[in-house]
Amino acid sequence: MITEYREYLKPKKVYIPLTDIDSKIANVHVEEGDKILIGQIVAEKFNGKIKTPILSTVSGTVVGFIDKVDRYGKTVDHIIIENDLLDETVELLSFKDKFAVPQDRNFVHNVTTYSDNISTAQVRRVLKRLGIQKITVDGLHTDIIFNATIKHIVINAIFPNEPFISQDCEELISNAEAFADGISLLGIGSDAESMTVIVDKYMPAEVLESLGKAIVDKNIELVSVNVKKIKGWDYKVIQKLVNHKLSNNLLDDGVLYTSIHAALMVHNAIRQGIPVTNRHVAITGDALKVNAVYNVRVGTLFSELVEDLEGYQEIDKMNLNVGSFLTGIQLNTDDFVITQSVDAVNVSEYREIEEDVCIKCGDCNDICPAGILPQNIMDAELRSVNSRIVDLDTHLCVECGLCTYACPSKINVLEWVRRAKRRVG
Ligand code: SF4
Ligand code: SF4
Repeated sequence: MITEYREYLKPKKVYIPLTDIDSKIANVHVEEGDKILIGQIVAEKFNGKIKTPILSTVSGTVVGFIDKVDRYGKTVDHIIIENDLLDETVELLSFKDKFAVPQDRNFVHNVTTYSDNISTAQVRRVLKRLGIQKITVDGLHTDIIFNATIKHIVINAIFPNEPFISQDCEELISNAEAFADGISLLGIGSDAESMTVIVDKYMPAEVLESLGKAIVDKNIELVSVNVKKIKGWDYKVIQKLVNHKLSNNLLDDGVLYTSIHAALMVHNAIRQGIPVTNRHVAITGDALKVNAVYNVRVGTLFSELVEDLEGYQEIDKMNLNVGSFLTGIQLNTDDFVITQSVDAVNVSEYREIEEDVCIKCGDCNDICPAGILPQNIMDAELRSVNSRIVDLDTHLCVECGLCTYACPSKINVLEWVRRAKRRVG
């Protein structure tokens, strides 16, 4: 169980990726030598017509551009910003007092006292300006966008979606009010009917009490689950809420699902005008000398965190996994950057997994919460039968990884389903 918490908030340089898995085109607004403030828009990326600003997470100077592997394993262009360590921030819109109209793209009036009277449009506007869109719970999650009808806000308070990493309880207790406010603000931004927070049944009583007190009178419900018992509990809670089988994209079911840290970022953005500069990331694995949960500056190289953790054990071959064990992405380098969407990284000694043949036990089919047949999809993928892959509703797979978890033959069933999705996608 990890119980060590660290901060890494003063990297000498940050590297900001210009594109990602969804947005493949970007307009860059800065050039080498430009002085930059925290929260300044350095580029805008496009996913079809949706434009998302890319903000600097430090103040300093643009010193160049470089190709690097991103957290999804794709090589993309990154802006390099040298940190002047002054943490100077652009003045950003916030709702402590009154709504202020932006003077230009980067600078808006700052204000000082809280307002309870915030409209849906105002919440959306701040989040859009601050590029708060992709703060994920690993595996099942949705982007924070409001272009669909959202009926339910669901918040996962079980960071980082793994039962063997302990929460920073003090952080949860001291930020309970801010978490609750962030959830309410998401509710206002989406006009949702219900707001639910999923907590671990075995969280310390003080944490549950603080969260419970903070949500009183806010129309937010706490649902406690036993995370050690079975994976897929978040899927089950959400399925119960919507009362039907879930789609591949939960936004299609009217659900916005994200993490408690995302709620805190929403609170900071709207109440303080603070952009997302930091991220909580769990760094685990037997290949590392020390394991820890970090509060890290977004844009920091993962390899710097490894150095901070006293490096690797003397091991020849390692596996590096960004995200959870079941659903994460394997990378063959540690030279990648922590972004808003990274919540866990595991580096373990490489162990040959002896996969057996499929014994057609059906366990993967039985456990699949999407109600599809991963064994049959794997079979169709092995035989390259596109029409069968489509007929089996492969697109409904939410990549929860339960099929891999259940397989007695240790087959990475999810990987076969992913391949099948890509084949017909
Ligand atoms: S096919 Fe596997 S990964 Fe996809 S939803 Fe079903 S159990 Fe989860
Ligand atoms: S759980 Fe594994 S062995 Fe059983 S049917 Fe699925 S793939 Fe085959």
